[in-house]
Amino acid sequence: MKILVIGGGGREHALAWKLEQSPDVDRIFCAPGNAGTAAIAENVAIPATDLPALARFAKENHVDLTVIGPDDPLAAGIVDLFVAEKLRVFGPTKSAARIESSKIFAKELMRAQKIPTAKASTFSDSDQALRYCEKVEFPVVIKADGLALGKGVIVAPDAATARSTIFSMMNEARFGEAGRRIVIEEFLRGSECSLHALVDGKNYRLLESARDHKRVFDGDKGSNTGGMGAFSPANNWNRQLQDQLDKKIMQPLLRGLREEGIIFRGLLYPGLMITETGAYVVEFNCRFGDPETQAILPRMKSDLLPLLEATIDGKIDNCTIEWDERVTVTIVLASGGYPGKYKTGKPISGLEEAAKLKNVQIFHAGTRRPNGEIVTAGGRVLAVTALGSTMESARARVYEAVSRIHFESCHYRRDIALGAVSG
Ligand code: AMP
Repeated sequence: MKILVIGGGGREHALAWKLEQSPDVDRIFCAPGNAGTAAIAENVAIPATDLPALARFAKENHVDLTVIGPDDPLAAGIVDLFVAEKLRVFGPTKSAARIESSKIFAKELMRAQKIPTAKASTFSDSDQALRYCEKVEFPVVIKADGLALGKGVIVAPDAATARSTIFSMMNEARFGEAGRRIVIEEFLRGSECSLHALVDGKNYRLLESARDHKRVFDGDKGSNTGGMGAFSPANNWNRQLQDQLDKKIMQPLLRGLREEGIIFRGLLYPGLMITETGAYVVEFNCRFGDPETQAILPRMKSDLLPLLEATIDGKIDNCTIEWDERVTVTIVLASGGYPGKYKTGKPISGLEEAAKLKNVQIFHAGTRRPNGEIVTAGGRVLAVTALGSTMESARARVYEAVSRIHFESCHYRRDIALGAVSG
């Protein structure tokens, strides 16, 4: 089979890496890919958001299956376009992807199905939002309705922050159209956990749990990022929570989508907050997580390809997924300054030395190879994953690998999965 993976981050490298191991896969294309995917696939210089060019490429090259990595092409309707062109594709349609691309849509669906989530109010008028903030208890969480590169969520500790956030989102269009409508919700206290489910329209199969680290600095300090590291399994996840997820979240969600006439086929990843009173949905994502995918897939023993195919065909019920008992820790190496301004084009050394370590996998994100040399090309540059029999040994191994890799102004967190060792 010929596979096309759309996207160019660490998640897409991990997806291509896993699919490349399938005996049924002959050839993989990655659009646009990165220096890491170039080593196992053929990079195609088409941006992930150029939907007509991607469909044309898939047709002309007789691609048998396209796998979509990022959220924006899904929100823009890439799956609808591919289906209309009779191209086989893994991912939800535009209307199903609204579960991620509109926080208001997701909230309304959760409210209708009584899915546990933070109490929220939605606003399309900034004066009303400001008045509402005069009587709430702080902190509150203010969210732009639409996609905002993971930056559209602000925790406001006080009224002044809430006011300036509402003003910049709604009146100054800080996130463009995405912030024209907003959600203001109660702040949930607890620990977060990421679950991934292959949903085939009717049934689903859970992948192993994971936790990510969103803040840029150790001790969960500094700005939110796309994710600075992850580990799997999550240390706050258990059987009882899994039952809750099934009965109180997944079943009602699938019912709610069906009632709206929406068939969700693809990867659904609920971000959960585990509180004293159980699991609450913080958000729904409609694609694989980054960097969770880089922590989860190295633990998957089963072939990923038939699982994606069964999801598309509505047959995930027939599948079992085998897992490596060992755990993983993933460290993201970022360009200094990320998630703010950073420099690119810095040569990366030590990749081969790091790759010599056993049970270590290096996934590229923002990398390029312009003249034979691999250089940085983005905020998140690499995601390095190690397997270990314990979190402690996986941490030791992954940090040994990371210590062998160098580029100017490289920044990474030293405390990824630390809480899972001592806790
Ligand atoms: P979201 O894009 O909705 O997942 O939000 C990004 C991050 O903001 C989450 O991963 C949480 O760390 C935090 N967050 C979002 N909503 C809440 C909430 N209601 N209470 C506490 N933290 C939240």
